[in-house]
Amino acid sequence: MKIGFDIDDTLINLREYAFHLYNRKLQKKVPREEFLKLDRLEIHEPFGMDDQEGKQMWLDSREEIYYTDCPPFPGAVELLQELAEEGHEIYYITARPAEHGERTKDWMRKKGFPIRDSRFFYGMKDEEKIHTIKELDLDYYVDDKPKVLDTLSDIPARLFLKDQTYNRHIRHVSRITDWSEFREIIDDHLL
Ligand SMILES: [Mg+2]
Repeated sequence: MKIGFDIDDTLINLREYAFHLYNRKLQKKVPREEFLKLDRLEIHEPFGMDDQEGKQMWLDSREEIYYTDCPPFPGAVELLQELAEEGHEIYYITARPAEHGERTKDWMRKKGFPIRDSRFFYGMKDEEKIHTIKELDLDYYVDDKPKVLDTLSDIPARLFLKDQTYNRHIRHVSRITDWSEFREIIDDHLL
């Protein structure tokens, strides 16, 4: 099967990693509970920043956020390795800007994700992902962003939402909280 994944906050815990990074950089101790209360993607509010300041903080920190030690979600690397070994085609479709594409690919490889160059897509705006997902004719696609899932409602791929505090209002898409659940979904499909 052809299985596609978004990267940030779907396969890797990027926002939470950035949240801890902000605490370190700003010498603050904003508790994790504040992170878990966020109902939007942006993480700057608990640090007292407005949207403009928050955007700048993200851009200034992006190097560290992207390329240091952001952890994959538990089981994600192992699951994708298994699926690749079983012969499934694993695709990555990320909105990370084009100038970060190749480095992101290398970083993901170092983390152990199974990657083929021809199955790694980057530099795609949320609304552009749909074209790639359609063209690839994916069987499954997993993302965390409500906006992306909204654009995909009429494609044949089975869609899954990686559970996050900011997407809990979405009811019409199946949800994955833990990656072991996705293993079960694929296994059920193959029965
Ligand atoms: Mg994402």
